[in-house]
Amino acid sequence: MIPFYSLSYQDLRKMCDQADLAPATANHLFNWYYKKRKLDFCRAHNLSSKAKQYILSSFDFALPKIHFVQESTDKTVKFLMLLHDGATVETVLIPFQGKYTLCLSSQVGCAMNCSFCYTGAQGFKRHLYTEEIIGQFLRAQIWLTEQRPADDRILNIVFMGQGEPLHNFDAVKKASEIFISQNGLSLADHKITISTSGYLPGLLRWKEDMPNVNIALSLHAATNEKRAQLIPLNRRYPLETILPIVDAIPQGKKRFVTYEYLLTSGFNDSSEDAHALGKLLQHKKAYINLIPFNPYPGSQWKRPADLQILGFKQIVESYSIPTLVRTTKGAQILAACGQLNTSSRNMQTCSHLPAQIS
Ligand code: SF4
Repeated sequence: MIPFYSLSYQDLRKMCDQADLAPATANHLFNWYYKKRKLDFCRAHNLSSKAKQYILSSFDFALPKIHFVQESTDKTVKFLMLLHDGATVETVLIPFQGKYTLCLSSQVGCAMNCSFCYTGAQGFKRHLYTEEIIGQFLRAQIWLTEQRPADDRILNIVFMGQGEPLHNFDAVKKASEIFISQNGLSLADHKITISTSGYLPGLLRWKEDMPNVNIALSLHAATNEKRAQLIPLNRRYPLETILPIVDAIPQGKKRFVTYEYLLTSGFNDSSEDAHALGKLLQHKKAYINLIPFNPYPGSQWKRPADLQILGFKQIVESYSIPTLVRTTKGAQILAACGQLNTSSRNMQTCSHLPAQIS
């Protein structure tokens, strides 16, 4: 059986053609599952019995199961999703002005071992399949429609949950194509952001292979020396290697690269650090997200005081770079940036550094 949610519209068209089904079958199926978001195709009136028979014998429509849900008072929702092999990942719904951003995981655990990240501490288990990425979206959407029908729209997707998305390039690319397909979920490409710690093999493929979605780079320090202490991958792929490649990724009109900067007390939050960041990015089409560190049990880093954060922001803005301090959401349930970890039974949680929610 082929996982239905692993297929692009073109894949499905091809299969339907080969099975000698009516050309509209693929359209009906995508419409039924992605637009109407129904899970029982047998109720689809516009399919022939031959098509239904073919579908029943060919496709697996399994979705991840919601194993556990935690809701924060700020309306953030963290799901622990159970996958077919018993592995779990976390998916987070982040509220924003009556709509939602969905933070997706791309791997079970992560191989990058960033020192501030709760997921990194978990180690790498495996890549997610395309259908498991799409499945996180569909499950969260179904939950939202049932539980909060008045505001059930997911408008943005960020690949900032567990895992390094570019380490799982093919599955993330395919899922992004399904998200933006007019026959699929029809999300706007500029509403999807893929965040990377600077994984060079994926960055090199981006320009040719990735649909026109947004990129966010987890920067966190303006020098190699400091960055490598936060992101060990920087020793292999230093700033002078990855920044020109990120610069060369085409951005649509009015678009920019988001640079995530995790602010940790006493390490990368000084005025010198702020000036170094401003100088590094001042001539780029850049947008900076400052993310005050979200503590988790056993972490070595601390969150700076609010005054320190404000002073840092003002210095960076003096270089004419739009800068936002990210409001922490979901910290109460450990659903905030860098806090995702499914290795614990307590469902501690999200890992990458979530970017703009707009
Ligand atoms: S921050 Fe992202 S890349 Fe780094 S260990 Fe965590 S999940 Fe992996």
